[in-house]
Amino acid sequence: MPLLRSWIDSANSATTPFPLNNLPHGVFSVGEGDLRCGIAIGDRVIDATVLEAAGLLRADPEADVLDAPYWNDFMELGPKAWADYRARLTAMLAEGADEATQDALTTFSVPLAEAALHLPFKVTEYTDFYAGKHHATNVGTMFRGAENALPPNWLSIPIGYNGRASSVVVSGTDVRRPWGQLKAPDAELPVFAPCKRFDLELELGAVVGQASSGPVTVAEAEDMIFGYVLLNDWSARDIQAWEYQPLGPFQAKATATTISPWIVPKAALAPFRVPVPARERPLLPYLDEATPGLYDIDLSVSLAPAGKAASTISRTNYREMYYSAAQQLAHHTTSGCPMNVGDLLGSGTISGPEKSARGSLLELSWGGKEPLTLDSGEARSFLEDGDRLTLHGTAHGDGYTIGFGDCTGRLLAALADPYAR
Ligand code: MN
Repeated sequence: MPLLRSWIDSANSATTPFPLNNLPHGVFSVGEGDLRCGIAIGDRVIDATVLEAAGLLRADPEADVLDAPYWNDFMELGPKAWADYRARLTAMLAEGADEATQDALTTFSVPLAEAALHLPFKVTEYTDFYAGKHHATNVGTMFRGAENALPPNWLSIPIGYNGRASSVVVSGTDVRRPWGQLKAPDAELPVFAPCKRFDLELELGAVVGQASSGPVTVAEAEDMIFGYVLLNDWSARDIQAWEYQPLGPFQAKATATTISPWIVPKAALAPFRVPVPARERPLLPYLDEATPGLYDIDLSVSLAPAGKAASTISRTNYREMYYSAAQQLAHHTTSGCPMNVGDLLGSGTISGPEKSARGSLLELSWGGKEPLTLDSGEARSFLEDGDRLTLHGTAHGDGYTIGFGDCTGRLLAALADPYAR
């Protein structure tokens, strides 16, 4: 599909992340104004809340679904309503739309540069997976040796853990270095101290837009997914190393999870679908996937020390994953686990086969043994106070680009001992 041209000129460049082909969903405010649902196009944000209230574009003729600072009520309407709304908004923004429509949408939109962006949806639940084979192999090699790198279940089960919805923050939110229990390998006992190995995980988050109350197929799971966000699963590696056995990560992953301000709808990513890689062991039939469930999305990570320019520290692609979000979601429901509108599923760290394509500092610095040298000349094994970390994601179409908006956060120094008396 080529670039869809809009009467909003800034949406027609090959490099804007928000052409008419995208129309991502976010929540914005201007000045002291209320939070509203918005859709980005070019350098503007369409005020979807006001469009609904004015009767110009309604997702549900009976009820207001955008009179709240989140897209959850809209998502609950389901795939047919999503597609119908998208088609009508696309027509209103397309080149050749009538003058009255152009006037109304100009009135009911604001410059993106003036908008403060907030969490685009109410995160009701959060699960994080471990579906990147390169990442799992790298981490397993460091923790258990090359012979036992992949756990025996890994090629059969999309491994995950139940995370904390309360930890999810929008891009731009500062993250505070946590304290926790740390135990050096040669120490007899743990200490309570600030994390010394604070890290990122480059991931994509799938936003679940439909509820389920029993096991669903991969095809049904695919239909339940509303869209995708960039996701940084901040990780305290030293806390994780001591706590993770036998029940998996806990406090190491609970400080913060940053997501991009825009949910890119699944429809905008449809031209970029790619199948999961060949199976190295046959999956149980309930995990078979008919529709290619991965996407060709270029991803990169940049790190800027306080007051210094940013260095790109990783470049990879979402197509490197072994399991798709639909496979993860289907597996999540096998037990009868209910899924809710606003469930967020982290993909797992997206690492490629090359060293430069690793999606965490743990892998990039090989557990701290091979520090990176940034463009500024500084060395990094893990994050330092003041570092700004930014994830970027783009899909490249015929004359257009689909983007998510930056997913960024700055690491603040640990506070004083929270238990000191
Ligand atoms: Mn993760």
